[in-house]
Amino acid sequence: MTENKRSSVWFHEMPGQEVVEYAKSVNDVAILPLGATEQHGPHCPCGTDAFNAIGMSELVAQKSGATVLPCPMYGSHPYHHWGVKGTIPLRFETHIALVEDIVRGAAVAGFNKFILLSAHGQVSSTIVAVHKLGIDGYFVLSLHWYDFLRDNQDVLEAEMWHADEAETSVGLYLYPEFVDMSKAAPGTSTSLIDPKWKIAPGMMPKPGQMYHFEGTFALPEKLEHSNGCVGDPTKATREKGEILVTRLVGHVSKLIGEIMEQYPVGTRPQTN
Ligand SMILES: [Zn+2]
Repeated sequence: MTENKRSSVWFHEMPGQEVVEYAKSVNDVAILPLGATEQHGPHCPCGTDAFNAIGMSELVAQKSGATVLPCPMYGSHPYHHWGVKGTIPLRFETHIALVEDIVRGAAVAGFNKFILLSAHGQVSSTIVAVHKLGIDGYFVLSLHWYDFLRDNQDVLEAEMWHADEAETSVGLYLYPEFVDMSKAAPGTSTSLIDPKWKIAPGMMPKPGQMYHFEGTFALPEKLEHSNGCVGDPTKATREKGEILVTRLVGHVSKLIGEIMEQYPVGTRPQTN
C-alpha cells in the first residue's frame, strides 16, 4: 500500500473525507468527463460520447493521480444535431450552468485545477464556461478528445467525425458489449461550404481554415437521409481504439503532470 492509495479514482465512489484529504495532500486536479446522449448510428449506443469520456478519464486518472468527477450523461449540441431521434440536447445555457456548478462544487472539496475532458463536440458551451469560471478565479482547461489526437494519421484512414472509424474503434476497446459491428455501415453528411475551408476534428489545421464549429456549415441532420453516421465505422477495430485511447491518455496525463509540477498540490495558477 502506497501513501497515495485511495479507494477509487472517482469522486463519487469515495467518502467525502477521503476526497478532501486526497485533494489536500496528494493531487488537486479534477477531471470532468463530458459526453452526450446522442444517436450514434445503428451499431453504437446513444451513450457513446459519455462512455468514451468516462473510459478515457478513468485511465487518465489512474495514470496521472487526478480525480474524476461524475459524468453528466447529457451534453450540449451544435444547431445541426437538434431534432434528431435518439439525441437529447441540453440548451447551451443549461450546459454552461451545469459545468460551472460542478466546478464550483468540486472546488469546495479542495480541487484547484480542472480539466473538462469532452468526447463530444461542445466547445460552444465549454469555452463559455471556462471563461466565466476564469473571471471568478478558477483554473479550467477544456479539452476535446479529437483535438488532442491530431497525431492520429498513422492510425485512422479518415478524419474523426461521428459514429465513425474513430468513435467505433474506441467503443470496441472500452465497451465492446454495446457495439454491434454487424450493423455498421458508412454514412454521410452534407457540408454547406466546401470542406476545405474547415478544420475537421482531429485534423492538423492548415492556413485559411475555420474550426468546424465556427459556422453554420452543416445541413441539419434531421434533413439528411443517412443512417446517423458521419464517416465509415466499418473501418473500426479494437486495436485502433486501444492506440487512440492510449495516446490520448498519455497526452492528457503529461499535461496534468506538468501542471502539478508547476503548481504543487494546494496551489493554483492565478487567474484573477
Ligand atoms: Zn460521438
